[in-house]
Amino acid sequence: MNLFEQQSSEFQRRHIGPNADDTKAMLATIGASSLDELISKTVPDAIRIKEPLALPQAISEFEYLSELKKTASKNKVYKNYIGQGYYGTITPSVILRNVFENPGWYTQYTPYQAEISQGRLESLLNFQTMVADLTGLPISNASLLDEATAAAEAMAMVFHHINKTDKITRPRFFVDNNIFAQTKDVLVTRAEPIGIELVYGDYTDVAADETYFGAILQYPNSNGSVEDYRSFIEKVHAAGGLVVVVTDLLALTLLTSPGELGADVAVGSAQRFGVPMGYGGPHAAFFATQDDFKRGMPGRLIGVSIDAQGNRALRMALQTREQHIKREKATSNICTAQALLANMAAMYAVYHGAAGLKDIATRIHLLTKSVAEGLSRLGIEQNNKYYFDTLHFTSVNAVAVKAMAEKYHSNFHYSPDGSFSITLDETTSVEDTNTILKIFESLAEKSTGHRIEAASFTETAYQLPEALLRTSEYLTHEVFNVHRSESQMMRYMKQLENKDLSLNTSMISLGSCTMKLNAATEMIPVSWPEFGGLHPFAPAEQAGGYQQIVEELGEYLATITGFTACSLQPNSGAQGEYAGLLTIRSYHAARNEAHRNVVLIPISAHGTNPASAVMVGFKVVVVKCDEAGNIDVADLKAKAEQYKDTLGALMVTYPSTHGVFEETIKDICQIIHDNGGLVYMDGANMNAQVGLTSPGMIGADVCHLNLHKTFAIPHGGGGPGMGPICVNDKLAPYLPGHAVLGDSKNAVSAAQYGSASILLISYAYIKMLGADGVKMATEYAILNANYMKARLEKHYKVLYTGKNDTCAHEFIVDLRPFKQSAGIEAEDVAKRLIDYGFHAPTLSFPVPGTIMIEPTESEDKAELDRFCDAMISICEEIKAVESGKSDKTDNPLKNAPHTQQVVCADEWAHPYTRKEAAFPLHYVTLNKFWPSVARVNNTYGDRNLICTCEPTSSYAEA
Ligand SMILES: *Cc1c(COP(=O)(O)O)cnc(C)c1O
Repeated sequence: MNLFEQQSSEFQRRHIGPNADDTKAMLATIGASSLDELISKTVPDAIRIKEPLALPQAISEFEYLSELKKTASKNKVYKNYIGQGYYGTITPSVILRNVFENPGWYTQYTPYQAEISQGRLESLLNFQTMVADLTGLPISNASLLDEATAAAEAMAMVFHHINKTDKITRPRFFVDNNIFAQTKDVLVTRAEPIGIELVYGDYTDVAADETYFGAILQYPNSNGSVEDYRSFIEKVHAAGGLVVVVTDLLALTLLTSPGELGADVAVGSAQRFGVPMGYGGPHAAFFATQDDFKRGMPGRLIGVSIDAQGNRALRMALQTREQHIKREKATSNICTAQALLANMAAMYAVYHGAAGLKDIATRIHLLTKSVAEGLSRLGIEQNNKYYFDTLHFTSVNAVAVKAMAEKYHSNFHYSPDGSFSITLDETTSVEDTNTILKIFESLAEKSTGHRIEAASFTETAYQLPEALLRTSEYLTHEVFNVHRSESQMMRYMKQLENKDLSLNTSMISLGSCTMKLNAATEMIPVSWPEFGGLHPFAPAEQAGGYQQIVEELGEYLATITGFTACSLQPNSGAQGEYAGLLTIRSYHAARNEAHRNVVLIPISAHGTNPASAVMVGFKVVVVKCDEAGNIDVADLKAKAEQYKDTLGALMVTYPSTHGVFEETIKDICQIIHDNGGLVYMDGANMNAQVGLTSPGMIGADVCHLNLHKTFAIPHGGGGPGMGPICVNDKLAPYLPGHAVLGDSKNAVSAAQYGSASILLISYAYIKMLGADGVKMATEYAILNANYMKARLEKHYKVLYTGKNDTCAHEFIVDLRPFKQSAGIEAEDVAKRLIDYGFHAPTLSFPVPGTIMIEPTESEDKAELDRFCDAMISICEEIKAVESGKSDKTDNPLKNAPHTQQVVCADEWAHPYTRKEAAFPLHYVTLNKFWPSVARVNNTYGDRNLICTCEPTSSYAEA
């Protein structure tokens, strides 16, 4: 390799952990002569791709950034007054730098290991408190994917609550005409498959009767009008229905809350709390409701509990934690859900406080009012009697306005009905409002001579109805009132960050979740204004850069999966499952086979699979797995034949959730096709496929990709993520549409390309690794897993391997025997790993009582060795309990994790030493990570459910 080639492949060497010497040593440990041999032994020959992937060659990080600058310049950042759920916002620099651009925050995993997640759990509790306060409802979850899906989730929750039995007695849902178009489109997609009938109308003249289970309204509505819904809500309640209100947190700083108006659920987007528009996302949606509905709520709920020392500790509340764990009994499939963006929004509220937020809202409102007054002087009247930030016009020629506005680099929102609206936001300056007036003056070819001046705002009254002026308090908790100076704010975020173990501390070997490197060069452009500042509904000609990236990335992903078309719309893997199953459903329907609604799902599947299936109205039939962890082909065949007249699909994960490349996968796909079904492949394990095999080659018809697993988007503590789907020609006509793209059929997200701005990360990943790099990544993921397996199987039983005794990119360690022999459970091992400085692998999925380890290609041998050393040392500790050398209950495993307070306390009453507790191996002394709380008590918190910040005084000093 000459020096110039070496430069181009630089990123491959940075992304992939093991170097040449590591590789040699690891192969020797495994007993393989070469990487090729290991891969040949692991991946069945029948499904191997023989050709190199048709992807571009690798470029260096420097080359990538220079090239991307050119692409970015094709995006034109105009002043956006479009609104419709996306607003200009000012991300406080202190939050941008310390959260958004900080791997300590964005590389975190979902907070299942509560003891090393107290920072983000506290921040998410702040989010819940902020949402509960502003919406006036007692319970809020910790974020959903976007406003439109949040509205659909609310509809579904209310539907299932009212129609508790199988017999749907109240199928109708009233949808007010004036909700955002994209929200309506997602409601349409989600309603019909589960038997909901949408009825559109004007809330002022609907007769809601006993056939309605509920209604949805928007406040302020899609035209910006602020209406009083109290009597409508009473009417729906009187008929036994429930009411969902879509709302805007910033407007609620001035307006009576939905809770006070009587709403049962309030949903919306927290985007304008400091999160850039990013051409559609990622942003956190919120969902708040009455106490009665907490068990049916989608998403995750953070709650307050105590730890083993009796100290306050946070964790995900309620045993079910997330809906999809209920599998086919679930009513929602939300898994990955924008945690990082919820944290940013919460920090925005912490930074500004109630008064600061109200000032921001007031400034926007007064500027909006002055624009209305200025236009009125020109003889242009807008329609909203009361409004917050949006003016709506029907009496002016929108085509002429659009042409003139674009001359001034300004975008308004133009409706299909010929009306248009202007929405102001936090970034709108007094100067901007004068430009808006100038646009209309130029059109009218006259001047009012009137200029809006900042000085004129002091005593202006709100253009809001007296009856809807907010009187209740919000954000009164201390946390929203003390972090005002930048120093304090910076330290608060750092304090929380320090409590959390993320990838900048040590490897996070979560099986099925692929916590690989999120390279800085992949991340940096996400903050560029050319990508952050674009409104998703801005004219396409202003988004040339995004168009190019969307097109190229879609092609790359189709190539990698062996398919022909791709939709980048779904915001998570689970949304991808839903969207993919919809394409199958539409395909059958188009062939007059709408009765094909049975979906076969192996017992080992992730919980989102059955949850997504029931959401598209499919009936789940479970397929067994055999002793070796493979799909029981006989059982699959029997069931496929039994249901051959109604078989819709198979959902299958490959390599299996057990970490094995099943030899029979092609036969399995064939059996399904022979019986009239199609094959959905859950692509969560694509990190074992890229470049070696593909879903298309294997025989699947559609798959989703978790870009936040295989393609380097960081997990953000539980989101963002992206779950694009790739399909073959049969299914291509049914991919999700969007009004912006001309047809909204099967729309699953609010924005046409979901969380568009983070597509950049996966785009960078593929560009910089290139065709051979992405394949190498797969090979090294398999090498790393097999190396760890080789080291650990001398001490633990490893479940399920392929026919040559190799694993794929992950493997399962069985901890069940220790329950019998030592009273030690999988959870004890998981918590003990914290003392060794590691996040536990995936716990009890897909097999209870086990851990699943997935190292990824990004970890080098030294890190893998540290983890293996920790596991081996833990094995010794277990043996000591087995032999009676250690106490059965008072031992380092049962008491794990050990906090600093416990280890440094005056008293130490345990039969093992403090050093054994906290510094069990030498490497730990070099990089000690202290958990901020001891083992968290889950049941205590569920018995005393608290899901908002409690009064500070309720926890005395321990
Ligand atoms: C992660 C995962 C999912 C869900 O994906 P999200 O992006 O979290 O919605 C589905 N199936 C499997 C096997 C997974 O590992």
